Amino acid sequence: MAVETLGDAWRAGWTVSAHCKGRNAKTKNGTKPCSQKVDLDMSSLLWTRGADFPVAMLSDRLMCPSCRSRHVFLIFDIPGNGSRAMVS
Ligand SMILES: [Zn+2]
Repeated sequence: MAVETLGDAWRAGWTVSAHCKGRNAKTKNGTKPCSQKVDLDMSSLLWTRGADFPVAMLSDRLMCPSCRSRHVFLIFDIPGNGSRAMVS
């Protein structure tokens, strides 16, 4: 089954975590990388984004609350099939 939307991912039992690459990962100046990590709640994502929201667009919508970086990547944990990173 191809997983393209949050609804697909939820039905397939995926879980997702967000990882911050730090606010200066692109400019390479200033503070050190933040490397915050948080497990995201799939139910909350479904309720806020909707079941038809594409998982490929999710990382573009995220911002790290600690350093306000938008350079966030996601790791989807897929039951019985390892995990898959999705980089912003
Ligand atoms: Zn951060």
